[in-house]
Amino acid sequence: MTTSPRAWVIDGAAVVTMDAGRTEHATGHVVVRDGRVVAVGPGRAPADVREEADRVVPGHGCLLTPGLVNTHQHLYQWATRGQAVDHTLFQWLTALYPVWAGLDEEVVRAAAAAALGRMALTGATTSTDHHYVFPHGGGDLFAAEVSAAAAVGLRFHPTRGSMDLGTSQGGLPPDSVVEDLDAILGATEDAVSRFHDPSPDAMVRVAVAPCSPFSVTGKLMTEAAALARRHGVRLHTHLAETPDEEVFCRERFGATPVEYVESLGWLGDDVWLAHAVHLSDGDVARLGATGTGVAHCPSSNARLGAGVARTRDLRDAGVPVGLGVDGAASNEAGSLIEEVRHSVLFARARGGPDALTVRDGLEMATLGGAAVLGRSDEIGSIEPGKLADLALWRVDTLAHAGIDDPVVALVLGPPPPLELLLVGGRAVVEDDRLVTADEDALARDAETAARTLLARAAS
Ligand SMILES: [Zn+2]
Repeated sequence: MTTSPRAWVIDGAAVVTMDAGRTEHATGHVVVRDGRVVAVGPGRAPADVREEADRVVPGHGCLLTPGLVNTHQHLYQWATRGQAVDHTLFQWLTALYPVWAGLDEEVVRAAAAAALGRMALTGATTSTDHHYVFPHGGGDLFAAEVSAAAAVGLRFHPTRGSMDLGTSQGGLPPDSVVEDLDAILGATEDAVSRFHDPSPDAMVRVAVAPCSPFSVTGKLMTEAAALARRHGVRLHTHLAETPDEEVFCRERFGATPVEYVESLGWLGDDVWLAHAVHLSDGDVARLGATGTGVAHCPSSNARLGAGVARTRDLRDAGVPVGLGVDGAASNEAGSLIEEVRHSVLFARARGGPDALTVRDGLEMATLGGAAVLGRSDEIGSIEPGKLADLALWRVDTLAHAGIDDPVVALVLGPPPPLELLLVGGRAVVEDDRLVTADEDALARDAETAARTLLARAAS
C-alpha cells in the first residue's frame, strides 16, 4: 500500500470539468484535499494554495478530465483472450463456456488484477464487473475479484452474476456451468451483505446481475429483482446484443428482449443493460421513460459483429448511456479511452456526421457512466465536493502535439499516456505506470492463469 499526499494541486493543465455548464479551462487548476475536489478554476492555483499543498503536479502539456467510468466488464475473461476470434456471439460463448468451467480463485484474482491494472492505465477510476460463471468447487470467486480491485486501487462495482438455464432446459450454456436458483439467490445475498457499501465515498458497491435471457430463467430474473430492491442495490444484465437473442426471445416468450424483461420488472432507474444494440423505436422510448441505463460497448459489439447501438437516439430519449469495455475475451484491448473514440466513430459510421460529437463521447465515459451506476452526486465531473477521481493525460507527445484542441487529441488521437490517475485522491498511476501494483508481475500471473485454464479445458 502506497501512501498518498493528502493535499494535491494540479496546476496549469487544460481542464474539462463536465460540470452543469460544461466548463472548460484552456489553462486551469484543481485542488484536492482528503480525497475530494475542493477547488477548480482558470489559470494557475493561488501561490498560498500551492505552498500549502503536499504535492504540486505541473500540468503543462496535459489535459485533466474526470476519471473514466467503465460500466460493463467481465474481468475473468482476461485469462481467455485471443480465443474464438472469428465467431458470432453464440458460437463464441459455446466455445468458451467449457474453458470458463475451469475457473478458480487463483485464476480469477490474476485475471481481475491484470484487467483492472489495464483499466487504470486507460483512464478508468471506477469499474464494474459482471461475474456469472461459478463452477462447483471453484472457491470464493467474488471475494477474489474484490481483493484484486482493492490491490489495484480502483473504485469497484462488482455484480453477482448467475446462470440457471442450461442446455437441458433449452438454454445456451452447458449444465456444468449453471447453478441452482436457491444457491444463486443465497450467494447473491451473501455478496451484498459482505461487500456492498452504501456510504458516499464507497470503494465497493455490489449489484445483482443474472446473465442474459438465453442463460437464465424468468423466475431467477424476477426473484433477483426482488432481492436487489429489498437491499437497495442496482440491477444489471445483458440485453438485445444480437439478432440471435431477438429470435430466441420471440420464439420462447413471444416478445422482444425489452418487452420480455419489462414483463419481469426489469426496467427502471435502478437497472442498467449491457449492449442494447437491437432496439425498436418503442424499445428506445420505454428505456427513456423508465430511466433504464445502458452500457454501450462499441469495440466488443464490433469484434462480435453484433452491430452498433443507437446512442444518439438513446441519449435523445433521456436514457443514461455509459461506456464499457466488456470482457477481454471479446475486446482484447481492454482500453476504456479507446471506447470513447470508437463510440464517436462508430456512431457516425452508422448515423452520419451529426450522430455524436467528440465531447458527447467523453461525456458518456464520465457523467454518463456515473449516472448509469447511480453515482452522479459523487463522480463523473470535477466540481468542489466530488470525489477526487481524476485522469491527467499527456497531450504533448509526438502523436498528439499540434492537435489544436486537447479534447480532440484525447478522443480522436491515439490513447495518450497518463501522467497521473487519482482515485479518491490516491495515486494509482504516475508517469504512465501503475504505482499500486507491479505491472510485470500482473502480466506474468495473467499469462500463467491463461495457460492453466487452457490446460484444464484440454484435459
Ligand atoms: Zn458482457
